[in-house]
Amino acid sequence: MSKIKVKLINYTPKPLETVTWAALISYWDEWESEAFKRTTMEDVKKHLPKVLSYGHESILEHANFTFAIEGISRVASHQLVRHRLASYTQQSQRYIKLNIDDVEETFVIPESIKKNPELYEKWKGLMKKSIELYEESYRKGVHQEDARFILPQAVRTKIVVTMNLRELKHFLGVRACGRAQWEIREVAWKMLEEIAKKEELTPIIKWAKLGPRCINLGYCPEGELMPQNCWKKTKEKWKKLAGTD
Ligand SMILES: Cc1cc2nc3c(=O)[nH]c(=O)nc-3n(C[C@H](O)[C@H](O)[C@H](O)COP(=O)(O)OP(=O)(O)OC[C@H]3O[C@@H](n4cnc5c(N)ncnc54)[C@H](O)[C@@H]3O)c2cc1C
Repeated sequence: MSKIKVKLINYTPKPLETVTWAALISYWDEWESEAFKRTTMEDVKKHLPKVLSYGHESILEHANFTFAIEGISRVASHQLVRHRLASYTQQSQRYIKLNIDDVEETFVIPESIKKNPELYEKWKGLMKKSIELYEESYRKGVHQEDARFILPQAVRTKIVVTMNLRELKHFLGVRACGRAQWEIREVAWKMLEEIAKKEELTPIIKWAKLGPRCINLGYCPEGELMPQNCWKKTKEKWKKLAGTD
């Protein structure tokens, strides 16, 4: 069982009404600030898919989503923070406590390693040693800020990320893709699942085609680099979340 946890903590209230109301400033003569209060899900249904189909995606920037992500490695968090149009707050390695008794609590060990018992034992041994040396350095007066240099990038971290809906769409496009590295891909699908759990948000998955790029494009842009069944499997998985047939 994966120890990676992703939780949608907060989001702009009435996000779909907000982006639709913002979009309508371009089309409604009678648009006014007060019209927000009158914007219903019926208006959203009527206008939002159409506006998005024109490629008018900047309206999605009016809704923000905040996720808590726990248990990913520094490998994955580094990939995450490469997405520049988001805000991040990450656990400090200057103050963390490491669990030496349960290496898997402290580090992410890929399945490919676990499949090989000999390698797996070697990995765990080296990871334990890194914690021992980290703690020895600390005991001998080295500040945690320097002691942390010994830790492998497999060390788990926690991070809060806030993305607007446009950036979230972009992020999911490249990171929920079968071509993305497995850990960041797991994070991306868990973010999508969190959105799908909220009844008031589910429609946006379908209308904004939130998900891997192939869903938006209708084909796999990675071509021969991907196995042929990836596109089919991804589409089925996405359809279940989006509630489409
Ligand atoms: C499968 C895969 C493999 C990768 N491999 C590597 C690798 O080997 N090496 C590596 O260094 N990185 C790699 N990356 C990371 C990748 O290069 C990007 O840094 C990362 O995906 C962030 O994407 P982005 O820049 O499109 O998006 P974001 O930073 O999320 O920005 C969103 C969009 O805003 C626009 N934008 C943002 N900033 C600017 C700007 N300054 N100027 C103009 N437009 C801007 C762009 O349209 C951009 O697509 C990989 C990513 C993937 C998905």
